[in-house]
Amino acid sequence: MNFQLTPNQLAVQQIARQFARDEVAPQARQSDESGDFPLHLVKRMGKLGFLAATISSAYGGSDMDYPSFTLISEELGWADSSVRGFLAVHASLVSLCINDWGTEAQKSKYLPLLASGEKIGCYCLTEPEAGSDVASMKSTVREEEGAFVLNGTKHWITNGGIADIGLVFASIDREQRHRGICAFIVETGWPGFETRPMGGQELGHRSSDHAFVTLNELRVPKENLLGEVGQGFKIGMSALDHGRLGVAAGAVGIAQQCLDASVDFARTREQFGQRIGDFQMIQAAIADMSADIEAARLLVYKAAWMKEKGLPTTRATSTAKLFATEMACKAAGEAVLLHGGRGYSSEYPVERLYRDIKGLQIYEGSSHIQRIVIARDVIGKP
Ligand SMILES: Cc1cc2nc3c(=O)[nH]c(=O)nc-3n(C[C@H](O)[C@H](O)[C@H](O)COP(=O)(O)OP(=O)(O)OC[C@H]3O[C@@H](n4cnc5c(N)ncnc54)[C@H](O)[C@@H]3O)c2cc1C
Repeated sequence: MNFQLTPNQLAVQQIARQFARDEVAPQARQSDESGDFPLHLVKRMGKLGFLAATISSAYGGSDMDYPSFTLISEELGWADSSVRGFLAVHASLVSLCINDWGTEAQKSKYLPLLASGEKIGCYCLTEPEAGSDVASMKSTVREEEGAFVLNGTKHWITNGGIADIGLVFASIDREQRHRGICAFIVETGWPGFETRPMGGQELGHRSSDHAFVTLNELRVPKENLLGEVGQGFKIGMSALDHGRLGVAAGAVGIAQQCLDASVDFARTREQFGQRIGDFQMIQAAIADMSADIEAARLLVYKAAWMKEKGLPTTRATSTAKLFATEMACKAAGEAVLLHGGRGYSSEYPVERLYRDIKGLQIYEGSSHIQRIVIARDVIGKP
């Protein structure tokens, strides 16, 4: 057993931490308030090698290991969940999926563009009537000479309005449920891929671009089918297996910033003639936060290590996501309380962290769904 990061992993952590603190964190409040995604950071992340961290340099990637990518997600999560969420979708859900399932021609054409940030990716799975129950999706695809034709609607699509390349899922035979689902690499400029912003205002991730997508007689060339007809469900779930690890790491980052902010505040805020950090109840809250973060971080790093070893990681990533997001929800609640009235205002970052963390508990499979995945593995499938 070895709990030490390698020199390479430490170097990546250092670069990611510096970028997160110097360039990402300073803009987080402003972009949260304006609702505009900080697009200038995309190419910077491309230059730093974050956008295709674990992908081979043959396709413009950085040849990093999974623990390194997990460290990047953790540091970005500390700074701004909208930016970390961008990376999870662009890199884990889209690029890694093309890397794992794409043909040589698909990989050579799309991966370098995604790696540099020249093109942005989105992942179009969720529909208004099919969220957790992916197999019930209503979007359809029919085969025509030389092409597949897609129709349907998707919503909550992160990067949907700014993306150039979408991984889009549709069913060729709805009666077959998950066996009928197909995955496609779609260029969003093609006629029939239409987007508009989601209605309402999001609780958190307010600078993320969330779109409602309509597929309207969208013609996709045959060579843009990803995997085989009917493999889409498997492809989509394998992408989530990658993505959930990044979400779990992002939750650890959020909780770490909750702890850092709470410690700063507890050291300086005085009431009843002493620092609030000298009250035992405040100390208990900080000790619990610290212990919980440590436990979650170990689960996340273990899942990343297993992924790097090529071991099956579905249960490990679900466990890490479940524990880390639930833990960070609790940490954010405690951090707001510890800041008193100030925690209730956007003047202090814990207010945004409290709103953002709720999203991590829902997307890429809610906590309920993670419990189902874990329980199925523990008890065995019926
Ligand atoms: C910020 C954000 C970004 C997102 N980005 C993307 C994206 O880029 N691409 C994309 O495709 N989707 C995206 N989503 C959608 C997200 O993946 C879905 O919202 C999520 O999967 C839940 O689906 P739903 O909203 O339809 O809820 P539902 O599936 O309708 O669930 C409603 C409630 O029922 C519970 N539930 C459902 N089934 C069960 C069950 N079997 N047992 C127990 N409880 C159950 C759920 O946990 C939840 O509490 C995003 C969502 C958010 C909030």
